[in-house]
Amino acid sequence: MGVPWQFVSDSGTEDFYADIYYGGDIEFNARLIIVPCRFSVHWSRLQMIEQDGLVFLDFEGKSPYNFLKSEGIGSKIIISCDLIFTVFSLLTGKLEQGLKKNRWDIHNIQDFALYKWNLMHLPIVDSYALFMKSIFQSSIQFLPKWPENKRFAVILSHDVDYPEMIRWIEAIRYSFQKRKISLAKIRDILHGEESFWRFTNWTELETANRLKSSFYFTAIKGNLLRYLFIAPDPFYNVGKYNFLTIAEHLKNEGFEIGLHSSFKAFQSEDKFRMEKSHLEHTFRIKITGNRHHYWHINHDRPFDTSLIHQNLGFIYDSSVVMEKHSGFRYGICSPFTFFHPDLQSELSVIQLAPSLMDDHLFGHSKHCSFPSYKEHIDSLLGAVHKYEGMLVVDYHVRVFNETLFPGWANSYRYLISRLSEYGGFYNTTASELADYWKTRSKLIESQSIS
Ligand SMILES: [Zn+2]
Repeated sequence: MGVPWQFVSDSGTEDFYADIYYGGDIEFNARLIIVPCRFSVHWSRLQMIEQDGLVFLDFEGKSPYNFLKSEGIGSKIIISCDLIFTVFSLLTGKLEQGLKKNRWDIHNIQDFALYKWNLMHLPIVDSYALFMKSIFQSSIQFLPKWPENKRFAVILSHDVDYPEMIRWIEAIRYSFQKRKISLAKIRDILHGEESFWRFTNWTELETANRLKSSFYFTAIKGNLLRYLFIAPDPFYNVGKYNFLTIAEHLKNEGFEIGLHSSFKAFQSEDKFRMEKSHLEHTFRIKITGNRHHYWHINHDRPFDTSLIHQNLGFIYDSSVVMEKHSGFRYGICSPFTFFHPDLQSELSVIQLAPSLMDDHLFGHSKHCSFPSYKEHIDSLLGAVHKYEGMLVVDYHVRVFNETLFPGWANSYRYLISRLSEYGGFYNTTASELADYWKTRSKLIESQSIS
């Protein structure tokens, strides 16, 4: 929300007042009263109710019920739904408990509560923050969310999974994917006329539109056997001349290079550390940002993965998203940090949760109801604009290849054109945005009294 806080306890005196009161006494002298859950939570009976422009998660089976009561303009507002617990359950991944995953730990999206309620494109946490801001905006000065009073933020990024085409695999893939196959195209693929080495296509397109992005490279080299039986890691070697050259290009042009940590990286802090230092040493850079290949973190204890990031000196991670559907997996489109329950403290690593991946619009489009990628992108952009949030986008380097990924680069061009129509957004590299958010948070904290 952008405002310092002070926690106070009821002094018992008659004129005691708090802006926000979190408790069961609805007679309390406060502007906003949030009534906590009183009973044990029944996750299986959890319901979603939309009222007065807000979404409420009914943990207690109260509905039908009037969750929001207002005693008139400028007077007390009582919310009989535990917004604090809702935010807690979203930002700790509690809503995902028990969700089935496949052999690569990819969630079964059909069973996910936010998907079932059609809320993947609604950042519930941000909607509560804006609602609370609206209550206090006449009496409290809020710190702007983004630099230069921009309305929303956009982070563009590219995972480097498969930038060197294995020709025979792609020739076979092309033959099976297409209804109408062109023999000339197959010959081009086999003769190396088609390429996944598309770095400069992205940097030129972005530079022409005055945009910056981040590229995530994997430091360890996988292979086909490992891919089939152990972990689906990329096959390239970042120490090769063409990778060193492209890394220089990215650095010189002001793009960020981050680590695309391997599939099992989060399972061993030492191996993870080796990946980071290998990439730093090879590219002669300091790396502050990470994204997990396959978004593969400890899904049940994401704060454990975040603690490893903190120990390794990362400023941010960008891995909290659902593979099979775009949107806000943790119900938030702002940067946030994890709380570690064992340490009983907040972790320092900023979460820049992606909300759109290229494959959401194509390979996984069967899981959504948008007629085309245009409506899909419009829906996400509309949400981020409305809730003054952050859109984190991930397009793989190879998908600029029109033969094997027809229309994919065009969907990115469409996104850029829609962004320029909106205007008024903050774009920088993920690393710089994380730095900005850290500074802003410290400023707010320094004026707060816990
Ligand atoms: Zn990847």
